[in-house]
Amino acid sequence: MQDVPLLISRILSHGSALHGTSQVITWTGEGEPQRRSFTEIGARAAQLAHALREDLGVEGDERVATLMWNNAEHVEAYFAIPSMGAVLHTLNLRLPAEQLAWIVNHAADRVVIANGSLLPLLAPLLPHLKTVEHVVVSGPGDRSLLDGASARVHEYEELVAGKPTTYEWPELDERSAAAMCYTSGTTGDPKGVVYSHRSIYLHSMQVNMTQSMGLTDQDISLAVVPQFHVNAWGLPHAAFMTGVSMLMPDRFLQPGPLAEMIEKERPTHAAAVPTIWQGLLVELGARPRDVSSLTQVTIGGSACPPSLMEAFDKLGMRVCHAWGMTETSPLGTIARPPAHVIGTEQELEYRLTQGRFPAGVEARLTGPGGERLPWDGESAGELEVRGPWIAGAYYGGDGAEPLRPADKFSEDGWLKTGDVGTISPDGFLTLTDRAKDVIKSGGEWISSVELENALMAHPDVAEAAVVAVPDDKWGERPLATVVLKEGSSADFTTLRTFLADEGRIAKWQLPERWTIIESVPKTSVGKFDKKVLRRQYAEGELD
Ligand code: ADP
Repeated sequence: MQDVPLLISRILSHGSALHGTSQVITWTGEGEPQRRSFTEIGARAAQLAHALREDLGVEGDERVATLMWNNAEHVEAYFAIPSMGAVLHTLNLRLPAEQLAWIVNHAADRVVIANGSLLPLLAPLLPHLKTVEHVVVSGPGDRSLLDGASARVHEYEELVAGKPTTYEWPELDERSAAAMCYTSGTTGDPKGVVYSHRSIYLHSMQVNMTQSMGLTDQDISLAVVPQFHVNAWGLPHAAFMTGVSMLMPDRFLQPGPLAEMIEKERPTHAAAVPTIWQGLLVELGARPRDVSSLTQVTIGGSACPPSLMEAFDKLGMRVCHAWGMTETSPLGTIARPPAHVIGTEQELEYRLTQGRFPAGVEARLTGPGGERLPWDGESAGELEVRGPWIAGAYYGGDGAEPLRPADKFSEDGWLKTGDVGTISPDGFLTLTDRAKDVIKSGGEWISSVELENALMAHPDVAEAAVVAVPDDKWGERPLATVVLKEGSSADFTTLRTFLADEGRIAKWQLPERWTIIESVPKTSVGKFDKKVLRRQYAEGELD
C-alpha cells in the first residue's frame, strides 16, 4: 500500500474542496451570525499560514498559541498552524493567570493569537511571557490595553488580507507534533499533552464513525465544548472530514444565548459537559424555546447524571454519554448500547455507562496490588488504556526528555487514567469515581458520583456535589453540598430520606454532613471543583 502520511493539511484540503459549502457559523451576540464556508476557511487558513511564516517568521515546529473562544478564526488557526508544520497550542482562558504564564513559558510559545475580548486577561500577563514575540488580535475588544507591550501587536484581518489563498503545505512526518494542550494541573504543575498529525487524523475518523458521534454533512454541530478543551473533543477536525457544519458560540456561553442560538440556527447536534446542560434545562424551564432541531447531544467530561439524561430524552434530545481525557484526545469510550438491548429496559442502563471502547483503544483494570481484574462488570479497579491516540508521555519542555511519571504511566507504557470503575464482559466502562474523589469509609469505598446522581434526581435539587471529609471513627465520610432550585425549601432530612428510599443508596453510605450552597464551584472546563469544595466546606462548621 502507499505510505501517505496522515496530515492535518489533508483534512483541510479535503474539507475545503469536497465539503466547500458546509459552514462555520459564529454567534456574534447581535444581528446575524458570521457565516463562513469551508472553502473560505481553507483559503483564510492558507493566508494565515503565509502571514505566520512571512510576516512573523514562524519556522519549524515553533509553537503558536491561541487564546480564543470557539469561532471561525479559531478554526482557521486549528488548520493553518499544524498544516504549515508549526504546533497549535490552545490556551485555557479560564485558568488562573500564574498557571497560564507557566504554561506559555513551558511550551515556549512564540506567537499568541488572541480574541480582542480577552485582552484584559492577556495584557497583564504579557510581561511574564518570556518567549512571546508577537500578539495577533482578532475580533472586537480594546486594543489600547496592549499599548506599550513588549511583544509586537498585529491585527488578524490586516495580516491575512491580500495573502495568497493557497499554500503549498509541506509533506510532514505524520508522527510530528501538530497540537498541544495542557491538563489543568489539579495536582502539581500542568502537564502538556502533544498530539501528532497521525493521532488527530485517526481520532477524527473514530469520532466520525456511526457508533461514535456519527455525524454527516446534513448535520450542524453546536460545539459548546471549548476549542481549548481537548480540541473541542475533536469536532473541528472531524467536521472537515465529513462536512458537518459547525455552530460556534464565541463568548456567548450563558444558557440564555445558547437557547437562542439553538432556536435560531437549528443545530442537530451539540457537545458539552453536564453543567452546561443543567444550566440550559433550567433556562428552558423558565423560558421555553423551540429546540426541536437538536436531536443528539454528546455529554462527557464528567458523569452524566441519569436525571439529566431523562430530562433531555423528554425534550427529544437524545443524550450520548462519552468518557475521555486530555491524554486520550479525548475519545476513550462512547455509550452506544449493543443491538440486542435496543428497546428493552437495559437500553437506558447501557446509555448511562461511560460507554464501550472503540477499536483503537485497549483497556485493562488494575487492582490496588497491581493485579489485573476481570471484565465482569463487578471488579472495580483503576482504568489503564493504550492506543494510537493515547498519550505515551507528557511534554518535557524545549529540548528536554518527555516526562513519564510513574503515577501516570505503567512500566509497560499504558496510561493510568486515575479513574476507578468496572468493565462489563462486552466492554462497557462504568466509572465509579476518580481515584482521588472516592470516599474511603471504614475500609469500604463510597462513590461520590453515585451519591450526586441520586441527589440530583430529587426534584428540588439543581446541583449536588459530594466530597470526603476526615472522620475520627471511619477515616472519611461523605459531605453533601447541595444547590436547591429557586423557590424550593427541601431540608436535609427530606433529602436523606429520599436517598434511603427504595434502596437508592445503602444506609451506611448516607451522608451525615450536609450543607446548602449557592452554586457548586467549577473548574476551568466547567466540572465540579472538588478541591475547592473540600477547602471551603470540609473544614468549616457543618450541619
Ligand atoms: P481535567 O483533569 O482538568 O478535568 P480532563 O478533561 O482531561 O481534564 O479530565 C479527564 C477526566 O474527566 C477523566 O479522567 C474523568 O475523571 C473525567 N471524565 C471525563 N468524562 C467522564 C464521564 N463521562 N464520566 C465520568 N467522568 C468523566
